[in-house]
Amino acid sequence: MDMTKTDLERAVRVRFAPSPTGSLHIGNARTALFNWLFARKARGVYVLRIEDTDTSRSTRESEEAILKDLEWLGITHDEGPDIGGAFFPYRQSERASIYKEYLSKLLDERKAYHCYCTPEELDAERKEQAKRSQMPAYSGKCRDLTAAQKEELTAQGRTPVVRLLVKAKDVTFDDLVKGSITYHSGSLGGDFIIIRSNGEFMYNFTVVIDDYLMEISHIIRGEDHLTNTVKQILLCEALGFTPQNFAHCPLIVGEDRKRLSKRFLKESFTMFKEDGILPDALVNSIALLGWSSGDKAEIFTKEELINRFDLSGVSSSPSVFSYDKLKWVNSEHIKMMDNNAFAKTLADYIEKYAMDAVERFSVDFEADRERLIDFAHLVKENIAILKEAVDYMEMFFAGSVTLSDEAKRELNNEGAFAVAQKFAEYLSETKTLDKETYPEITKRIKKSLNVGGKRLFMPLRAAITGRTSGPNLDDICTFLGKGAVLKRLSSL
Ligand code: GLU
Repeated sequence: MDMTKTDLERAVRVRFAPSPTGSLHIGNARTALFNWLFARKARGVYVLRIEDTDTSRSTRESEEAILKDLEWLGITHDEGPDIGGAFFPYRQSERASIYKEYLSKLLDERKAYHCYCTPEELDAERKEQAKRSQMPAYSGKCRDLTAAQKEELTAQGRTPVVRLLVKAKDVTFDDLVKGSITYHSGSLGGDFIIIRSNGEFMYNFTVVIDDYLMEISHIIRGEDHLTNTVKQILLCEALGFTPQNFAHCPLIVGEDRKRLSKRFLKESFTMFKEDGILPDALVNSIALLGWSSGDKAEIFTKEELINRFDLSGVSSSPSVFSYDKLKWVNSEHIKMMDNNAFAKTLADYIEKYAMDAVERFSVDFEADRERLIDFAHLVKENIAILKEAVDYMEMFFAGSVTLSDEAKRELNNEGAFAVAQKFAEYLSETKTLDKETYPEITKRIKKSLNVGGKRLFMPLRAAITGRTSGPNLDDICTFLGKGAVLKRLSSL
């Protein structure tokens, strides 16, 4: 039977399954994003599942923080612990009874077994193997214990783990990014544990059951999960499930081509927010970590990403994360924003992160609203991150400015000081300082001092703003007005 397009679209169900043991970072956010883009493009379903079986490391705070950051990025889920869905519950800690059923099935069918070896015994076994230059692997010693032997071991006070019986074989699957992959099960370290001795279910076991029951069609995640995939395929076979389609995305490395630094793996989102990275720019940058559109374009809105994203555009070689590149992408997103939307974004940012600057320059958030909006429009093209707008506040709101070293150097050039003085002189003769009077004044200076171009404008910029670069000087002057400019010039 031919499947109609909608049937196919509906068939796409993907998941992002974070362990709530830390925060969202570049790595797991990329997994979330690729799954989300894939689902949105196919008009499929994107599930959020919380993998909190490791009770010693999982926290509710971490879960909440991850959810909040996903919301901030605009990566919205269709089913999840907070909104429910047909496959509820979505927190693994609430699914123990389900896992127990499948565990019994595996034990009954003798596809899994109790292992009573102590950590010391296992350690000794590994040391022996190392001596013989063998790969460390569990020997399978407890595979065929009789009921009496088990009783005896239990009487010794041992509590068993449960291991999956792994037969020696090749496991092959077609990866949607990496192509055909074959692993020999012998490289997995022997029969692997699916339940710890304290009764905690292991990640590979719970994932396989949840992905099956939640009708997940595609598993898209980092290639650091490749050996987990092999274990999961073996578990699928044991449980009688058909494995999903897999797509393993390339490693993310730092600019030195080494493992991404801790800075970007731990609290990176806090840093991005404090620096004033826009969520859409972050989404855009994260999308480029391993995926490319096929042409030279690199700046995309979320809608464009949804339209263009395809697993065939995901490369299998490591992708480099660069904070400088993220800042550049951010500057492009700032430029793309409508002026008013940007002013609102900047005001929200300042209110959250830069109230000290607001106080320092006595800006009244309510009374100076219009001026803040003008300020936002003027700095919009000159900043890469919102934090840089705060650096510009002195230029726009301070009574007097401190000259930077470059500005001092500029004003020490021959004739520079005279230009600034002339500006003050002519300015005091005009009624106001605005878009009309500013060019009149500079024209007069040109004539009287016979200077033009850089030799005219650089000293003025240095004297009035304290800096040697920034938004258009006529805009800054108009913003400041006659009184403020005169005051700055007189304090030189
Ligand atoms: N909880 C796993 C992790 O955070 C999920 C991996 C997977 O996608 O299966 O790494």
